[in-house]
Amino acid sequence: MVGLFVNKHIVNPTTKLIKSAEKIVSGDATKTNEKKKNEITDLTDAFNYISVEMKQNLNEATRQKKQMETILLHMTDGIIAFGIDGDIIHINPAAITFLGLEKDDNTFEKIFKKLNVDINMEKVIYLENWTSSEQKVKVGERYINMFFAPYKDENDRPGGMIVVIQDITEHVRLDNMRKEFVADVSHELKTPITSIMGYADTLLEGEYEKEIQDKFLNVIATEARRMAKLVSDLLTLSRYDNSKTSNEKTEFDLGELVKKCQEKLQIEIGKKHQEVECFVTANVPPIFADKYGIERVVLNILTNSIKYTKEFGKIKIYVGFVYNNAYIKIIDNGMGIPKEDLNRIFERFYRVDKARSRELGGTGLGLSIAKEILDQNNGSIDIKSIVGEGTEVVIQIPTKQ
Ligand code: ADP
Repeated sequence: MVGLFVNKHIVNPTTKLIKSAEKIVSGDATKTNEKKKNEITDLTDAFNYISVEMKQNLNEATRQKKQMETILLHMTDGIIAFGIDGDIIHINPAAITFLGLEKDDNTFEKIFKKLNVDINMEKVIYLENWTSSEQKVKVGERYINMFFAPYKDENDRPGGMIVVIQDITEHVRLDNMRKEFVADVSHELKTPITSIMGYADTLLEGEYEKEIQDKFLNVIATEARRMAKLVSDLLTLSRYDNSKTSNEKTEFDLGELVKKCQEKLQIEIGKKHQEVECFVTANVPPIFADKYGIERVVLNILTNSIKYTKEFGKIKIYVGFVYNNAYIKIIDNGMGIPKEDLNRIFERFYRVDKARSRELGGTGLGLSIAKEILDQNNGSIDIKSIVGEGTEVVIQIPTKQ
């Protein structure tokens, strides 16, 4: 590109200029003074033309170079251009950061040896027939993907190599999460299935008294219900994940909804002889949200308080309004959550005590579903807890204003 430019705007006029100069120097005796004067004027014009053109072309080349450098400087991907000898021709800041390079890392060989990448520049250029190759490495805590692409010069000969570097840490993290999730789901489903199969086979194999038969059938029914709850929770999660929820937003009264949830759980509360009090301040404006989803959240938080609080325990619910947000605060004096588990309880399948949660019919998905629903309603959920003292959950949802 620059070559063509130089050829058209500098080389061609220069050739013309040389020819004019030669004509003058040849000193033809028959030339009149007038003719000589004209030739000198032509020469001066040509000089002036070249000097203006050169200035313009240099400005244009500098502008293009600056533009290119600015693009490379601000690119989020890293770029390194190597010459055929393996020396760096250009490197942008992203490449230096991603690969953790230092001043001394200034050749192809040094850089990729340091990163433990088995790549040979000549091999990529000469043996692999101009195809680009790709490598993944871990640099510190980051996962990096690199594309190696050889380039040719204007004579169609190998010119060197361009390496494009991308930070794929988030990608890898999501991929690992997906794999873990599939493993967790399989594990969670396997436990009740094994139990159901075991008890069903035992019942089929022998003659048992009615009392034992009932006991086994009860286990089968409980495990089947657990599986149904798990599948239903997974479907809810997937519906919210894909934002395909058909639950439209409506305007409703949060205090009324919370009281309705408390009534729905009255049997569980009664079984544990717990004392549940609900206080609604008078000034809570109606909220505009997915009513079914918010009800699900409140039911889950309240169920947790009931589940993880002993018999005769106390649960207090406050519904109020602060800074354009309606809030629900649910405080129990139950077993509490250890500090180290607090920032993980919103993860799918995370439970402080797996066995206890299972025993109480938990799937470990309740809080992650609650978080997902609140995110989609521009709300938030915060949990504070002290082991042995109790837990406080605060949900905030913007009001219609
Ligand atoms: P689960 O189905 O196990 O209850 P959740 O996602 O609803 O799943 O809660 C995750 C974990 O957080 C629970 O297993 C429990 O260990 C802990 N947890 C939640 N709420 C409370 C609470 N009020 N008191 C003590 N622990 C709680």
